[in-house]
Amino acid sequence: MNYELCYCEDLLNDLYEGVYFVDKDRGITFWNKGAERITGFSAEEMLGRFCYDNLLNHVDETGKQLCLDGCPLHETLRDGSARSAQVYLHHKSGHRVRVDVKIRPLFINGEIVGATEVFSSAELSDCTEIGLKEMERLALFDQLTQLPNRRYIDTFLENQFRDYQSLGIPFGVMMLDLDFFKRVNDTYGHGVGDAVLKMVAGTLQGAMRKNDFIGRWGGEEFVAVLRGVTHLELRLIAEKICRMVAQSGIARGADCLRVTVSIGCTMALPTDNSFSLIQRADQALYCSKNEGRNRVTAR
Ligand code: GH3
Ligand code: MG
Ligand code: MG
Repeated sequence: MNYELCYCEDLLNDLYEGVYFVDKDRGITFWNKGAERITGFSAEEMLGRFCYDNLLNHVDETGKQLCLDGCPLHETLRDGSARSAQVYLHHKSGHRVRVDVKIRPLFINGEIVGATEVFSSAELSDCTEIGLKEMERLALFDQLTQLPNRRYIDTFLENQFRDYQSLGIPFGVMMLDLDFFKRVNDTYGHGVGDAVLKMVAGTLQGAMRKNDFIGRWGGEEFVAVLRGVTHLELRLIAEKICRMVAQSGIARGADCLRVTVSIGCTMALPTDNSFSLIQRADQALYCSKNEGRNRVTAR
């Protein structure tokens, strides 16, 4: 490689974003350090593979598998137009990561010879960026999933009620519970159960909007708090989360270990306090369980 290309490679590896190049057959010819960090897959694992090998297994908001149908890279190679999209890719450790991708064609002498994809992740939610000192972090975050713990959720909810009552900012909550999780522990052991909890936590974080809040309520239960949503938006986001969890999985040899989640969601009412709000979300969750699991009930 000549000096200029080495320099260019160093530059691309310094970027926070993931960058990869494909040739016109969608064979991966370059994979930068940002792509390694965001996806968990090393350059060694990706170079020479094809994007449709389905390692990254992009899906869109509806859960549609884009590598099989509707691959934006494929479209750009076909029509030579740059495009951007929001997709959810499969991290090596199983969870879904939301990324914004930008794709550009590569031309030589007017002929399309490949394409570049630049992608950035929205993986860090505000609550992990607060920059709390380590002791405060340990007191407020769950060690396994790194999500806010029950104590943090309680405080966060109190603050939402204050803003709701004084400023009229509406908010809704979701209560989420993994389906048949005991079976996962019983079949594969507690260590695998823990890995599944971490994987689901990652998918939940990735599926939320930037300022949404998600914490671990305890065991295999999570609570999300969404500010400024309508009842309909709350339900639609819950349904999207439900689909994303069902589309995530941990590779186990040739198989993929998948779990689903049941969700109950509800909006805060003027007569509510934290207890009554969580209780109503929990009752809605109970309905989702009774009606077959892997679904959302809105109250
Ligand atoms: P359902 O669909 O009705 O929710 O069934 P379930 O099996 O998920 O519910 P159940 O309450 O019977 O079991 C929850 C299981 O979650 C039992 C417990 O061992 C497991 N669990 C709770 N916390 C953890 C944890 O931190 N790690 C692991 N591996 N398992 C956990
Ligand atoms: Mg439970
Ligand atoms: Mg459960």
